[in-house]
Amino acid sequence: MIRAISPLQNISASVTKLRANSNIYIIKLNSEIVVIDAGDRSERNVVEQFLGKIIDPAQVKKVFFTHLHYDHIGNFDLFPNAEFHASAVEIDAFNKNKDAATLNPDIAEKFAVHLNPFPADSELEIIDTPGHTAGSVCFWYEKESVLFTGDTIFRKKLLGRTDLPTSMPEKMPESLMKLAKYNPRHICPGHDY
Ligand SMILES: [Zn+2]
Repeated sequence: MIRAISPLQNISASVTKLRANSNIYIIKLNSEIVVIDAGDRSERNVVEQFLGKIIDPAQVKKVFFTHLHYDHIGNFDLFPNAEFHASAVEIDAFNKNKDAATLNPDIAEKFAVHLNPFPADSELEIIDTPGHTAGSVCFWYEKESVLFTGDTIFRKKLLGRTDLPTSMPEKMPESLMKLAKYNPRHICPGHDY
């Protein structure tokens, strides 16, 4: 009998990972649930099924995007009551050219949400890490020593691509220097490469 491997994985006390081509992270903070990235729409059934095992998506008030590529925003509409946040630079790039910012015209068209810059009072520290995209960010959750790295850097120290329409390859070295200052117990990348 083949037993399917669960796409859910506990990272730390408050952080759960849900694999959906790209990774979705669910963080149960004291006051609220924050979701980082929304996964690839091709994995929608899996996301719907497994998200419901750990949270009620209707109770999610904030979704934070590391960047706006299609495989990180694809299931945004599973969170009917959430505010959506990305960096100001990423929002600007999206408003200028949706197809270039998402790499997928179908998703770009569906992605009709109001994007806000990150709130100043978040328990997550926002680290600007341009390179993979102009407005890519990483998140630092100090309480549990978790660094969320999006597509900037992957598990095996592999770097994200910097040859995409909104990439800024010249900024990548500085972004990596910023990340090197952290000493995380857990690194949570956007993909398990
Ligand atoms: Zn990406």
